[in-house]
Amino acid sequence: MNLKETIRNIPDFPKEGVIFKDITTMLKDPAAFKEAIDHMAEKYKDCDIDYVVGIEARGFILGAPIALALNKGFIPVRKPGKLPAETVVASYELEYGTNQVEMHQDAITEGDKVLIIDDLLATGGTVSAAVDLVERLGGEVIGIGFLLELCFLKGRDILSNYDVFSLLQE
Ligand code: IMP
Repeated sequence: MNLKETIRNIPDFPKEGVIFKDITTMLKDPAAFKEAIDHMAEKYKDCDIDYVVGIEARGFILGAPIALALNKGFIPVRKPGKLPAETVVASYELEYGTNQVEMHQDAITEGDKVLIIDDLLATGGTVSAAVDLVERLGGEVIGIGFLLELCFLKGRDILSNYDVFSLLQE
């Protein structure tokens, strides 16, 4: 199957000039969804990891089934104000302003080995904030996996110290 063809392009979303990669069409196709999860899980099946961290929201949709396929627990990185217990917070730059992500303070303990999953790598800002949270709690980022990488945005450059994998590239 050509997985990439199951992802559609939405021009001018969320703003003019941006072509948004919409994975909802892939998720709706069970064969495509399964193929994506199987391939991503396969990549990490022999890695020594303790947890899969997924980034809200599409990182949850992919990260949770990957965690189950690997027989590991899942840890959510969420937008501010959503997690009920004590959190750690990381900020990252957007084109205009900043954004924040949070993780429960007790989600990771010193020495835990973590795989971070998100749907798409663009500039790398979002996932770098998730890396920061994991490392501040003493975790070790073993790998960072994406369904799709927008190579022209060079997000990989700021992740050069990490093992970065993308199933599809554009
Ligand atoms: P970055 O922080 O610039 O790497 O942007 C990646 C984050 O923004 C990820 O959490 C994605 O879910 C989201 N994102 C950016 N562009 C797109 C897109 O075209 N389709 C889906 N998600 C996107």
